[in-house]
Amino acid sequence: MKLKVEFDRVGIQEPSIAKAILETGIAANIERAVIDGDEGWTLISVADEETERFIAALSRPGVSIRIQKNAVSHNVTECVDCGLCISICQKKVFSFDEDWKLRVEPERCVLCGRCAEFCPQRALSILK
Ligand code: SF4
Ligand code: SF4
Repeated sequence: MKLKVEFDRVGIQEPSIAKAILETGIAANIERAVIDGDEGWTLISVADEETERFIAALSRPGVSIRIQKNAVSHNVTECVDCGLCISICQKKVFSFDEDWKLRVEPERCVLCGRCAEFCPQRALSILK
């Protein structure tokens, strides 16, 4: 499961993720980190069965945590199945099904936003 973890000016002062990993022994994987001066966010994946315990260990002032679901919104009405997003996305979120219709696996998304930027039909949006 993916967690989007946001840090404010207070939260960014502490090595919260490292502490949570050390405290719990959970092998959390940092998939993306965007730190800008005195705030930022990261996308972390942890095993489904460990999610609750990891959130508890990570929770502290200045840190907000959200389970990241349905990161990619695909408008099937606008999409023309051109396949451009398949070649753009490095995380293999998109593929064609057996009928050459676009298949979306949003759980792979790391929120880079490139697909939404380049889709000629504006058929994709990203929940950040
Ligand atoms: S780039 Fe846009 S129009 Fe093309 S397949 Fe992807 S979502 Fe559909
Ligand atoms: S936002 Fe980035 S990682 Fe997510 S589906 Fe689009 S291109 Fe792939």
